[in-house]
Amino acid sequence: MEDLMQKIVSLAKRRGFIFPGSEIYGGLANSFDYGPLGVELKNNIKQEWWKRFVHQRTDVVGIDAALLMNPKVWSASGHIKNFSDPLVECKKCHTRFRVEGEISSKSLPKEIYDHIETSHPPKEGIPTVLGFESLKQDFTEKKAFNLMLKTYLGPAEGDANVVYFRPETAQAMFVDFKNVLDTSHRKLPFGIAQIGKAFRNEITPGNFIFRMREFEQMEIEYFIEEKDWEKYFDHWLEQMKQWLKDLGVSDTKLHYVDIPDGERAHYSKRTVDIEYDYPFGQKELYGLAYRGDFDLKNHMEASGQDLRYQNLETKEKFLPHVIEPTWGVDRSVLVALLEAYAEETVEQKERTTGEEIEDTTRVVMKFPAWLAPVKVAVLPLSKKENLMEIAKKIHAELSRQFVVEYDETQSIGKRYRRQDEIGTPIALTVDFQTVQDNTVTLRDRDTMKQTRIAIDKLADVIQEKLHD
Ligand code: ATP
Repeated sequence: MEDLMQKIVSLAKRRGFIFPGSEIYGGLANSFDYGPLGVELKNNIKQEWWKRFVHQRTDVVGIDAALLMNPKVWSASGHIKNFSDPLVECKKCHTRFRVEGEISSKSLPKEIYDHIETSHPPKEGIPTVLGFESLKQDFTEKKAFNLMLKTYLGPAEGDANVVYFRPETAQAMFVDFKNVLDTSHRKLPFGIAQIGKAFRNEITPGNFIFRMREFEQMEIEYFIEEKDWEKYFDHWLEQMKQWLKDLGVSDTKLHYVDIPDGERAHYSKRTVDIEYDYPFGQKELYGLAYRGDFDLKNHMEASGQDLRYQNLETKEKFLPHVIEPTWGVDRSVLVALLEAYAEETVEQKERTTGEEIEDTTRVVMKFPAWLAPVKVAVLPLSKKENLMEIAKKIHAELSRQFVVEYDETQSIGKRYRRQDEIGTPIALTVDFQTVQDNTVTLRDRDTMKQTRIAIDKLADVIQEKLHD
């Protein structure tokens, strides 16, 4: 299983989905850059989400708020006080480690042992104190370290100028609640949606794009009357399930974990973590929480502004309650990559005009068509001038409607393999017959079957195939 993770990381790099960030300088702490195919894949996810949950609904509107917000937002929301991880710090090199629960000689994290052994090996002849004793001697007491990233606004780096990069997109929806309400004339229930970056000074980033310090979220704050919370909680749970199905995620790998009393935030009556069986274990993918009126109440108190909603019929004023479904964009990309990956033995050697493909295994990314970064590859069979010319014309025509890639390099067999590896549903080949009868071949990624289609029918046939 770990193996699958390595395959995904290497395919992502080799084919231009995701690269290590700042790689020529040795990288930067688990940051990653989305390459030409990665950005298409990620945009497909964000656009589908926006279409589905904003444009196709009459009860949700979107915002795009600033990343840097007034620090009072974060004291009102509780992030300055509570958004922290319990850590100990190595006195020699100041590396920090996350330690959950009570520390005892039995529960010491393995990373701490490894750290002492590799980073501070004992001098020759001096016996090393490992484990619990070393923890007391070489590490600070357990402290809560805040996960928010700090910076300074303006030229002076004083305390008065401290601001934080937002650790979640959600608070903007509460802070902008009144403005949205006043300008969009919404009635309850209604939601505010946002897609955007969030930053956390994670102590243990890792597992590729699973845990990063800079990542993207898609969140909705859905405002309701208190009495309706169960109904809308169920509604959003269903929506999230449908979303996962359409993303191509197999049901058997998903776990809907109801967070028990005592482990939930005190203001939440119900929270469900949607977890996924990653190759490195079962961990969170998305979350759904009933937040009561906790956030609006805090912001109303801290800002002194009346954030209540007025029912125009009864004239009653009250604070709406909130259901919050939240999706990680990068974890969606990771799961989409993991789910799509397939290796197949090709039994019959694939035959194209005049050529056989030697390699009998192929890697295919079986993305659902809507998710595939490239929908159609346009491939002239050879570098003959007339074939390339026709192919370029077809590319120009089709690219008005679909994301199309033109490729004239390498043998046709290698080009098919590349398109399989990046998950392109349709490969279109312009060959010698094209010159005679204005037809091309369409090769289906999954079945590898080829059919001949007249050029003037292409747009319709492709449209149909992509929506199958
Ligand atoms: P975790 O328990 O994994 O740290 P969380 O419960 O802190 O996650 P939330 O605060 O609920 O996460 O954030 C909402 C969503 O944002 C998560 O479900 C996840 O998809 C995504 N997310 C959170 N932290 C990260 C991160 N460091 N890197 C990438 N995605 C993240």
